[in-house]
Amino acid sequence: MALPRFCPQCGSADLDQRVPSGDTHARLMCGHCPYIHYVNPKIIAGCIIEQEGKYLLCQRAIPPRPGTWTLPAGFMESGETTEQAALREVWEESGVRAEIVSPYSIFSVPQISEVYIIFRAIALEITGQFGPETLDYKFFAPEDIPWDSIYYPAIRQILERYIEERQAGVYGIYIGNDDTGKVHFIR
Ligand SMILES: [Zn+2]
Repeated sequence: MALPRFCPQCGSADLDQRVPSGDTHARLMCGHCPYIHYVNPKIIAGCIIEQEGKYLLCQRAIPPRPGTWTLPAGFMESGETTEQAALREVWEESGVRAEIVSPYSIFSVPQISEVYIIFRAIALEITGQFGPETLDYKFFAPEDIPWDSIYYPAIRQILERYIEERQAGVYGIYIGNDDTGKVHFIR
C-alpha cells in the first residue's frame, strides 16, 4: 500500500513513522501539523452461489491473473454494507441478481491487510450481462470445476468445503486465516 510522500493536510514532506502518544502502532505522522496517516485493512466481499449443485465462477478479464476463474468478489465501497458490496460484485462480475443466505467465510490475510467476507447466496435472476472485469461466467458441476485455473488456494478451499457440506446437508462458517482457523457450526 503506497504511503503519501507529502502531508495531505499541510503539504510538508516531514513525515515519519512514529507511535502516537497513547497508541499501540507506529503510524506515518507529520512533523509540522497533527496529521496522522492511518492504514486499516481493506474488505473484499463476495458470494458463493450454488444452483442445483452447480457453482458460479467468473473468469477474470483484467489483472491480476486474467483468464483465471474465481468467485465473484471485490473491494467494498464506502457507504455500503458488506452484503450490498457482495451482491453488487456478483452483479457486476456475472450479471446474476442474488440474495444472501448466510455468512460462509471470514478470512483474514494480515500479511497484505485484507479481509475476505464470503456469503452463501442464491441466484434470483441470471441476465447474462456482466461488466468489463469478466471474460465469462459459468455454473460448474463439481466434476467440471477448473481447479487448476483457480489461483487462490482459499477460493479452492471454500468450494471444496461447500461441496462436502452440501453432501452432508450442514453448512458451517469458517473464521480464520491461511494458518489457523475453524469451521463453526451453529446448532
Ligand atoms: Zn502536516
